[in-house]
Amino acid sequence: MLPYRPIHVYVESEARNAPLTKRILGSLSGCSVSEIRDHRRLEEEHVPFKGYTADIKRRVLILAHHPGPWIRPFPGSTESLAPTEYYVAHANGCPLDCEYCFLQGYFDHGASVLFVNQEDLLHELAGHLAESAPNRPVVYHAGELSDGLALERWSGFASAAIPLFEDVPHARLELRTKCVGVEDLLPERPPSNITVSWTLTPWEAWKRYESRTPDPMARLRSARACQEMGYPVGIRLDPALIYPGWRAGYADLVEQIYELLHPEGIESIVIGGFRYSAMVVDRIRERFPSNRLLLQEFVRCPDGKFRYFRPLRVSLYRELVKRVRKYDAEARILLCMETDQIHKDVFL
Ligand code: SF4
Repeated sequence: MLPYRPIHVYVESEARNAPLTKRILGSLSGCSVSEIRDHRRLEEEHVPFKGYTADIKRRVLILAHHPGPWIRPFPGSTESLAPTEYYVAHANGCPLDCEYCFLQGYFDHGASVLFVNQEDLLHELAGHLAESAPNRPVVYHAGELSDGLALERWSGFASAAIPLFEDVPHARLELRTKCVGVEDLLPERPPSNITVSWTLTPWEAWKRYESRTPDPMARLRSARACQEMGYPVGIRLDPALIYPGWRAGYADLVEQIYELLHPEGIESIVIGGFRYSAMVVDRIRERFPSNRLLLQEFVRCPDGKFRYFRPLRVSLYRELVKRVRKYDAEARILLCMETDQIHKDVFL
């Protein structure tokens, strides 16, 4: 997979004079630049690519102004004993193109949007950290509506945010990604409360559903490089997918994880079954008519999302937990967005 390098940049009028805009445009020589009024109304603009297509994802970067707020509660954090979780909206959208991506249901176009008034974001984040209670763990996710590091080459967001966590041990920043080569972009000797995490799927699932992303072995090599720079690494089997041969696929994947990574440097392993909202279904069917992921048995859950039928989900989670425990009995394994009952069914 070729690295993402935009060839069309759309710049919102309000973002035109931001220092980051000037820096990015200076580094992208040969790009066409179009001024737009509002990235949320791309249909009304005179620009080369619009809509939700592979072309716009691969070729376009939008530089926009974010009015704030930048930090929002993470929708999964409802348990009273769980850390408080937030996501940081440094960007929207993602240049990668996984067939199951939930962002397809969120945005009208597929272009990545980078918010260039980043000093406002960093100011808000510093204030948020200063006000957080030292006796209450708090996690900030970069990449809820984007990949956490896909735009780092241009945004420098993670590099700028990492030092803010230096003396705030009760807070953690998670940079979740599917990208590779990020080790060249991140600062060395980070504080211990920065986790770089990779979402991983078995090779066969990657070929079927994520072939426009770096392959899982390349991601693991990047994770290893980050471990060697001192970053705790997170493994995210989320979405965990059911497809023909999934048991053998996940057995191989977990073996590869423990062949390449130091177990003591794995901060946690998060497992979350594939889930989707009604908003994304039409777009998946329209863009990927041969996709078979939606043909499994799903149930609609109280949060409105469709998840694998409960016995399927429990058997998927148990299998993955068993595979991980084979290599590391002490691994910190968490389930994502699941009920207490499912936790009991899987772990007890
Ligand atoms: S890497 Fe994540 S955000 Fe990007 S397309 Fe894939 S699922 Fe979506």
